[in-house]
Amino acid sequence: MNAKVVLCRCHKTKELFGIRIEERNQDWYRTWAFKIDEHKAKREKFDTNQVTGSLMEDAAFPGCPYCGSHGFFQCNCSGKLTCCDDDSVQGTCAWCGSTAKFINTEQFKLQGGSY
Ligand SMILES: [Zn+2]
Ligand SMILES: [Zn+2]
Repeated sequence: MNAKVVLCRCHKTKELFGIRIEERNQDWYRTWAFKIDEHKAKREKFDTNQVTGSLMEDAAFPGCPYCGSHGFFQCNCSGKLTCCDDDSVQGTCAWCGSTAKFINTEQFKLQGGSY
């Protein structure tokens, strides 16, 4: 099984968390989310994981570990993820502070990079 962890920040607390994703039939499914600190994320090299393609939500996905949101959006500053409420159309990127539009999660291209 092909599984990875990508990084996300909470829009409410700005805290970092990891999203575990799993490849099934060439689609990626979000299966789990967990709190993580930046040092550990770096050590595990989660910040360099890259994923392209669909990103669906598994029925068991618990949502953001800080605020419980199931939605998230990607800022074009660096392709990083920020959690958001499902009905948001835009939000403030927790990584760079700019306003980003909610994007279609069917066509995701995730990438890591520096903090
Ligand atoms: Zn959150
Ligand atoms: Zn940003």
